[in-house]
Amino acid sequence: MFHPKIADFSATRHILKTFNLRASKRLGQNFLIDAEVVQKIVEATEISEGDEVLEIGPGIGTLTQGLLEGGAKVTAVELDKKLPAVLAKTLEGYENFKLVQGDILKVDLENLMPQNFKVTANLPYYITTQILLTLLEKKLPITKIVTMVQREVAERMTAAPGSKIYGALSVAVQFRSDARIAFDVPPTAFLPQPEVTSSVVICDVKEKIKVADENFFIKVVRASFGQRRKTLLNSLTGAGFPREIILKSLDAAEILPSRRAETLSLEEFAKLSEKILQSLN
Ligand code: SAM
Repeated sequence: MFHPKIADFSATRHILKTFNLRASKRLGQNFLIDAEVVQKIVEATEISEGDEVLEIGPGIGTLTQGLLEGGAKVTAVELDKKLPAVLAKTLEGYENFKLVQGDILKVDLENLMPQNFKVTANLPYYITTQILLTLLEKKLPITKIVTMVQREVAERMTAAPGSKIYGALSVAVQFRSDARIAFDVPPTAFLPQPEVTSSVVICDVKEKIKVADENFFIKVVRASFGQRRKTLLNSLTGAGFPREIILKSLDAAEILPSRRAETLSLEEFAKLSEKILQSLN
């Protein structure tokens, strides 16, 4: 079967017109129209024949087509109820494609993707952080995440301790993966054009540091960054942890109470959360 390339301005406009659709701002719909960018995202996903890929928000199937042509088995989750009819047409004849209509934050991913899989997405920007945190905090068998995000989010994901933009997202991403910015994408690669530059981030998911209780670790990280300008001692007590326990745990972890969350390395957060957990039990 001959499949015309979707990643093209005229093809995308034609598809939207045929189905009487307008890109929805509310759903963060900015469709890729640059075949080179699609190719680079597919290459960044490093697909081996038969790899299972979860795509979040396939839209009209632009990136999906690239992934399928690259040999992936794609399961896509799309929230927009109008798009299944479009995808049935644009991806007609591709056998390794499965579509689930629903919200990626609500879909039961454990059952949908039981074996090792990769995630590739041109994410809807209004919920990028929530999606990333959901993917990283659930213990899913993900090996790699390749996502298009706003440049500013990409910088936060990969920020090092001590930098102004290092925060709870940086720790969550780097706790579960080696993350790097692969390349930038200008607004002209999309229809409609977003207002900001985007970046593709590659996260190689792996266990980096062992902690006794991951949920507790995340709770401590979030509480530490709760009030950025405050010291760790004040942020953590402000979040409801008993002052005596925090002072004792900081001392045991060899972290000065006057330090701020943005100066702590991943290892220090891990050590601190372990000490607090031990003191509470
Ligand atoms: N992958 C397509 C592309 O690259 O051209 C579309 C990307 S567009 C930036 C984001 C897509 O995510 C849209 O199709 C939108 O409808 C979908 N979306 C928005 N919120 C979603 C959610 N909560 N769950 C699943 N898909 C969602």
